[in-house]
Amino acid sequence: MRKKILAANWKMNLTHIEAESYMHTFLGEIGEVDDVEIVMIPPFTSIPVLAQISEKAPFIRIGAQNMHWERSGAYTGEISATMLRVLFVKYVVIGHSERRMLFGETDETVNRKVHSALEAGLRPIVCVETVLRRQLELGLKDLSVKDAVEIVIAYEPVWAIGTGRTATPAQAEEAHRFIRSVLSKMFGTGPAERVRIQYGGSVKPENAQELLRQSDIDGALIGGASLDPHSFAKIIRHAEAVLH
Ligand code: PEP
Repeated sequence: MRKKILAANWKMNLTHIEAESYMHTFLGEIGEVDDVEIVMIPPFTSIPVLAQISEKAPFIRIGAQNMHWERSGAYTGEISATMLRVLFVKYVVIGHSERRMLFGETDETVNRKVHSALEAGLRPIVCVETVLRRQLELGLKDLSVKDAVEIVIAYEPVWAIGTGRTATPAQAEEAHRFIRSVLSKMFGTGPAERVRIQYGGSVKPENAQELLRQSDIDGALIGGASLDPHSFAKIIRHAEAVLH
């Protein structure tokens, strides 16, 4: 049984002061949650505040939106996996379509980052969006089976990100099955069955439940709708409802 994983990708939004008041509202609304995994992915500047708040809400995990593959060195403006790890970060988004389109990330840099993240004890959320087989084969190249099962894949059709247009549950399910079949060929059927595959692209309270009901949709990566604590809380409740 794959535990559903709901992740809030804030992108370049919310100061650490706004993040604190967001979390206050959000935690007040959701109460204790243990049957789905919640990952908050703020800008780097809000990670310490969120890490501190999550000490009192250990079911909240912290993620980062990006990292560099080197451990340290002359890479002005970059952040390493170890720097994130010591801030209690557990997940890191790698290869988001905005990073591929706007910042020149390639399947090769994605692959370097995936290896470096795993080595530091972070779990990568690897985003794939168009050429699924190639992005998976190159992005996850040379991973051991042991590492592969630590990974989360986020399927994010580019036309659905931030546009208000969502893949239908059937379209998303079909893409997720295809992704799992590629993972099966790469790592074997058993391990592929353990990998969680999130859907991303204009997920909101109105469509979350139908999407999360699909058997190969193991969670969601949520941008716009996660900026409002009430709407992210509603999505969490929908995810819990699917299980009961
Ligand atoms: C995303 O940032 O990964 C995303 C899916 O954004 P949105 O939910 O706004 O489409």
